[in-house]
Amino acid sequence: MTISIDAAFDSGNIVVDSLAGTTARLSIRKDRESDFFQWFHFRVACNVGDALDLRITGLADSAYPDGWSDYAVCASTDRENWFRLDTDYDAGTDGGSLIVRHTAESPILWVAYFAPYSMERHHDLVASVAECEGVTYRRLGHSLEGQPIDCLEMGTGTTQVWLYARQHPGESMAEWWMEGALEKLTDPADPHARSLLRKCRFHIVPNMNPDGSRRGHLRTNFAGVNLNREWHEPTAERSPEVLCVRNAMDESGVDWAIDVHGDEAIPAVFLAGFEGIPSLKPEQMEKYKAYEATLAATTPDFQVDLGYAETAPGQANLSMSTTQLAERFGAVSMTLEMPFKDNRDLPDPVAGWSPERSKLLAHACLATLDRML
Ligand code: ZN
Repeated sequence: MTISIDAAFDSGNIVVDSLAGTTARLSIRKDRESDFFQWFHFRVACNVGDALDLRITGLADSAYPDGWSDYAVCASTDRENWFRLDTDYDAGTDGGSLIVRHTAESPILWVAYFAPYSMERHHDLVASVAECEGVTYRRLGHSLEGQPIDCLEMGTGTTQVWLYARQHPGESMAEWWMEGALEKLTDPADPHARSLLRKCRFHIVPNMNPDGSRRGHLRTNFAGVNLNREWHEPTAERSPEVLCVRNAMDESGVDWAIDVHGDEAIPAVFLAGFEGIPSLKPEQMEKYKAYEATLAATTPDFQVDLGYAETAPGQANLSMSTTQLAERFGAVSMTLEMPFKDNRDLPDPVAGWSPERSKLLAHACLATLDRML
């Protein structure tokens, strides 16, 4: 009997090029109106005991071809518990192919680039947090396809803190991080939360790109626009998701900001900053460096050796949110990157980098912020 493969669901993405018995040749659909592709999410219906041979081809042209070596695919049988399956990357076959060989242990196997975070789960999260005491819900605007841009606000302090995630919708670990952050901040027994809520006003946007999320995009919105290249001049036509958030930031001001992402190639958690902005102030940079050092001392999941090269003085790309907020508000702003692969220094062969690790990292990030203020 031939297996069947489906992806017509929230954040589903795969093209079935051919099926024969238990072998499938697959490829990834590009983000709408763009050439980016890397995110995949599909299910395989099969028989228990089937020797599955799944090949995702054409990956040399993906957004981050370096993401496929030393990568293990995420899989689940119940859509709750996600584990890793060993994966081979053959750069020389079928335009670069990722090969998953697995003996089926259940009638349906779910496979994804990282544990998905569905829009249904997003709405569950927003609804439950919005009900918590001291939380204000704001709908800042809507996406090109009419989905709400949700913002949760809390805290009575004067330090304005913005946390936002999933500008790049395929980086689902970013919303797992958000779930961890929101759980901590709404836990009445959490001492860091009590302290932070006294010092700060939090503005939290768990998902900047709901259209891309639902469509199974890697990097862009409905119009094929990379939202993290729009912050200098967002428009209602191209990037209403950024425009409504930036307008709300202009109202509140921004003292601290964390933009949460995932990185395809680097097997580590790291920060990127704003060292190249024209108006860089020494104390602004000192606070950023102190945050980075304190976070490294707070959790062994964070490190400062691996990361992006620093930008030369004055050469910052102000279309990105971190640099735009640092320049516009003098904020201490940062891009937080988590791995799709694993944490090289503390590997977990079963789960790799995971939703649970992402949530715990959010706890550490907030504890660190509390120490900094
Ligand atoms: Zn990203």
